[in-house]
Amino acid sequence: MSHLMNTYARQPVAFVRGEGVYLWDENGKRYLDAVAGVAVNTLGHGHPGLVKAVAEQAASLIHSSNLYRVKRQEELADRLCDLSGMDKAFFCNSGCEANEAAIKLARLYGHGKGIANPTIIVTEQSFHGRTMATLSATGSRKIQAGFEPLLSGFARVPFNDIVAIRQVASTNQDVVAVLVEPLQGEGGINVAASDYMAELRKICDEFGLLMMLDEVQTGIARTGAWFAFQHSGVMPDVMALAKGLGGGVPIGACLARGEAAEAFKPGNHGSTFGGNPLACAAALATLDAIEKQALRENADKTGDYIRAQLKAMLADTAGVVDIRGQGLMIGIELDRPCGDIVARMRDRGFLVNVTSDKVVRLVPPLIFSQANADELLPPLVEEIRALLAG
Ligand SMILES: *Cc1c(COP(=O)(O)O)cnc(C)c1O
Repeated sequence: MSHLMNTYARQPVAFVRGEGVYLWDENGKRYLDAVAGVAVNTLGHGHPGLVKAVAEQAASLIHSSNLYRVKRQEELADRLCDLSGMDKAFFCNSGCEANEAAIKLARLYGHGKGIANPTIIVTEQSFHGRTMATLSATGSRKIQAGFEPLLSGFARVPFNDIVAIRQVASTNQDVVAVLVEPLQGEGGINVAASDYMAELRKICDEFGLLMMLDEVQTGIARTGAWFAFQHSGVMPDVMALAKGLGGGVPIGACLARGEAAEAFKPGNHGSTFGGNPLACAAALATLDAIEKQALRENADKTGDYIRAQLKAMLADTAGVVDIRGQGLMIGIELDRPCGDIVARMRDRGFLVNVTSDKVVRLVPPLIFSQANADELLPPLVEEIRALLAG
């Protein structure tokens, strides 16, 4: 019997090695990886630049503590602010922690304005993490059930509904911020209208709210821009990052701009491990490689190619509801639960994911090529057709 707590219905396979877009299991079987550790392995597996940076940093200094200056952390903050236009960064170890920082920051900002019960607008089908604050912010009963009492201080609206946000912002005096994913990941790869970000910015300016984006999944070139908000032409006040940032090494960040960047004072927030030299070296190497290998451009181009191919191949397949996404964040929504596709594809040597029951999700490493797509798509389309015919 396993001594692991029963938190995951794990697939019966264990990987022992990875190289590029491929993984190998204990029996030497090879798999094409279109999951990338759930949008984490930005550079694929065994990237020489990342491996070297981590090895060298491990050899010189792994951890020293935020009681002292951390040079790598300062470098990474400079780099992220330069890429995003944000002013300041706080480093942590995961996506939920990055959102926790954003939520705490918003509450502090609210109290600074004399609001005793600061409230954050969040959306349906959102996913912000598994800690108490972030699961309370999450728009999924499945994730919250059994963990009541939930945190108060959240007001929920439908995703992609700007009218509903305006309605709450204009009637609830306690609202201090809006927290949304620019493109929902776990909720089913839900794409917002092209003017959603701009409209959100307008409302936040009008009512003095912080525009906070959860870019834990969409950030770090996943959608073909460094950050998904950059497709919109407007800037958020706060942004949460994690997943792809360290190329597989755990690191999260909460970035802020303007007044929001000054909210935290010494003693307000912290993290023992957050922004340690090892994790920051990994993130710096990941950002370098994205730039050098033009992976943003690749995510854009290969993502468009995959969606176009899927649309063509599945054009006359009844039961395919939608094919959508941006960059290498791709969803194929079917008219029925499709979890079985994961095992069928795995048996054939392909790793794909299903989210929200009915959506096949592809979030491959950003090095995924058109040739890799040509390997993946015919068997995937076959399995989708087989499931829908059954
Ligand atoms: C994965 C994810 C999180 C949670 O990240 P963890 O590192 O698992 O805590 C939060 N928000 C979004 C949008 C995510 O995709």
